Amino acid sequence: MFGRGAKKSNDTKYYDILGVSKNATEDEIKKAYKKAAIKNHPDKGGDPEKFKELAQAYDVLSDPEKRQIYDQYGEEALKEGMGGGGGMHDPFDIFSSFFGGSPFGGGGARGRRQKRGEDVIHPLKVSLEELFNGAMRKISLSRNVICSRCNGKGSKSGASSKCSGCQGTGMKVTIRQLGPGMIQQMQHPCNECKGTGETISDKDRCPQCKGDKVVPEKKLLEVVVEKGMKHGQKITFQGEADEAPDTITGDMVFVLQQKEHPTFKRKDEDLFVEHTLSLTEALCGFHFILSHLDGRRLLIKSKPGEVIKPDQFKAIEDEGMPVYQRPFMRGKMYIHFTIEFPDTLTPEQMKALEAILPPKPLPQFTDMELDECEETTMHDVNIEEEMRRKQAQAQQEVYDEDDDMHPGGGQKVQCAQQ
Ligand SMILES: [Zn+2]
Ligand SMILES: [Zn+2]
Repeated sequence: MFGRGAKKSNDTKYYDILGVSKNATEDEIKKAYKKAAIKNHPDKGGDPEKFKELAQAYDVLSDPEKRQIYDQYGEEALKEGMGGGGGMHDPFDIFSSFFGGSPFGGGGARGRRQKRGEDVIHPLKVSLEELFNGAMRKISLSRNVICSRCNGKGSKSGASSKCSGCQGTGMKVTIRQLGPGMIQQMQHPCNECKGTGETISDKDRCPQCKGDKVVPEKKLLEVVVEKGMKHGQKITFQGEADEAPDTITGDMVFVLQQKEHPTFKRKDEDLFVEHTLSLTEALCGFHFILSHLDGRRLLIKSKPGEVIKPDQFKAIEDEGMPVYQRPFMRGKMYIHFTIEFPDTLTPEQMKALEAILPPKPLPQFTDMELDECEETTMHDVNIEEEMRRKQAQAQQEVYDEDDDMHPGGGQKVQCAQQ
């Protein structure tokens, strides 16, 4: 053992810094650190000392071995090297390893670490035919690449000096007096060095990039749209976004945008087609030709004696979209039928139809029953519009619902059917 006996230390400083109790779980410690570290990060205007303390406390309490030593012997024991490994970690390293990078997105890179450049996102309009058959699209783009002449230094000699406008920080602070005792502080990228923090003397400037370190370059990308890809799917070209010095180049990302198709609607691996039949076709059979997305012409026909009803769906196996990365598998093609009925018929036509069609149900009312009924007239309605109007009305009358219950409001008389 450590030769001090197993006395319990009364030191709770690290727990106090994180604002947790001495028996806090690992999870509670994590959460407490996360919240406090973001709040106190110097990049966000926090106090660097407080930030360092938080990192130290978290470093100890998140490590079960160090925590045990701390709990038992206090802070001094850790300083004496009992925690093994020795020494404290850099508070910024602790912070960024906790978040796997900077939670502030891009900023916060403190020179030691390479920051990651932004991804460039491009929408790419594609037809349903292209998603069905697969396609290759050549896209010409302009992007910045590191200047080959100066290797991204911006100068012939490779030297640069600290920008005097911002003392090398890349940022300038302006202070504005808003009123008595009130000032506003504003931070913005330094205009003299464009936020880079360094300047290159005119004589030493690289003639190719004029000191910009990067030059625009035209690039032709071959975007392969694979069979079965979907709307919203991403095709990524790693490291093809704009290059910048000391930066990991971001990706060029194409996001597929499927154009509307006049005939087919897609739902996952299935295709939907609308088809209208005349009443005669629905009753007596039909056939029609449908041009598929790969140019094949499909003959679609009813079976002998088959009747198609309004709103009926039919499916054709394996004529839907190819499955992504398994293009030999295909979804289904669904056909939705609409039947066009004639608006009116002549008495002769009615008679002729009645002779052919299954007989009407026999009337089951006596003359006396019919005499007792009141006559009604039906008229055409646009039911959707009607319901919309009713809903708007109901909202207005929400306060006097009782009035709706009035008897005799709308005369509705029904013949009792027995
Ligand atoms: Zn500057
Ligand atoms: Zn250059």
